[in-house]
Amino acid sequence: VLTMKFILVTGGAGFIGSNFVKTMLYKHPNYKIINVDALTYAGNPENLQAISDNHNYSFIKADIRDRQRMDELFLTCNIDTVVNFAAESHVDRSIEEPEVFLTTNVIGTQVLLDAAKKHWKMNPSDKYSKEYKPGVKFIQVSTDEVYGALGETGMFVETMPLMPNSPYSASKASADLIVRAYHETFGIPVNITRCSNNYGPYQFPEKLIPLMINNCLKEKELPVYGDGMQVRDWLHVSDHCTAIDAVLHKGKDGEVYNIGGNNEKTNIEIVKLIVNTLGKSEDLIKNVKDRPGHDRRYAIDNTKITTQLGWEPAYTFEQGIKETIAWYIENTEWLESIASGDYAREG
Ligand code: NAD
Repeated sequence: VLTMKFILVTGGAGFIGSNFVKTMLYKHPNYKIINVDALTYAGNPENLQAISDNHNYSFIKADIRDRQRMDELFLTCNIDTVVNFAAESHVDRSIEEPEVFLTTNVIGTQVLLDAAKKHWKMNPSDKYSKEYKPGVKFIQVSTDEVYGALGETGMFVETMPLMPNSPYSASKASADLIVRAYHETFGIPVNITRCSNNYGPYQFPEKLIPLMINNCLKEKELPVYGDGMQVRDWLHVSDHCTAIDAVLHKGKDGEVYNIGGNNEKTNIEIVKLIVNTLGKSEDLIKNVKDRPGHDRRYAIDNTKITTQLGWEPAYTFEQGIKETIAWYIENTEWLESIASGDYAREG
């Protein structure tokens, strides 16, 4: 017997969310996906064109901070699972304008938790009553940036203290804490996933990889922060999606899972790889003033998710970046339709 699920995906018109919605619809034809997105600058309905007439998919334009709408939505759509991607996601913007990061990333998450809580019964004896509804599983999509920066060695493990350094990562860390508290206090079945830097198709060209590909294709300057020796651990977006799928089905309530692809690269390495793959000149690279509070190194220890949930990344970085560059070349129209970023960014 196939189990039906009603999954509320928030922020599903963004980069990772749109990839996730498609992955889930193809992989689980018995699931209904309800995508709620406010369509900020980062939300693009074109990302979802391929599944716009899929009968298991519906889109609702709404803001996760809108308490009444979220409450109605849980009631009318019979939601049993939430995957919360909706967020302001760009570090540079959080330095320029932090407030919306707090309202969306923290308060928005709490509004969703309240809605999930309202539609969930705590007493297990209710299980046998007519009104019983199984718990609304709540998955909070977080980031490795909540751990702060690493030195030359070491890796992030789930038990490390949260030491965020940017308004963005502080807002994500705050959201993680309120999600945890709703589990401890109200018993909501939650999971928090902390993922490293994603790359792949449909990423907004303010982030490092699509920005560099876009600029490189146009032979525009490639602005690199500081010495470009910042280290990030890159994960293909489709591997991130399969990891969330694994957490959704096998994650133990209340647990945090790191998600990483074992692909540590410096920013400058990535930029040079793009330049060389596209056959352009490295003279396009320009070092610009470093971002304030710029974390030097992130690296993910993904032992917990690989050993406990049996997830493995399928992509090597070499294969993933090759396909990603090819995708942006084939989809210049998509790229053109978006107001391009103008600075070195890596998310
Ligand atoms: P994105 O900026 O591409 O997409 C965010 C989406 O959220 C957009 O569609 C936007 O319209 C929507 N949104 C923003 N505010 C909203 C609100 N108030 N109500 C409803 N919708 C709203 O981001 P992304 O790169 O796809 O990231 C998705 C999630 O994954 C975020 O929570 C981010 O913190 C996390 N994450 C991202 C990365 C990465 O490398 N991109 C890494 C780790 C974690």
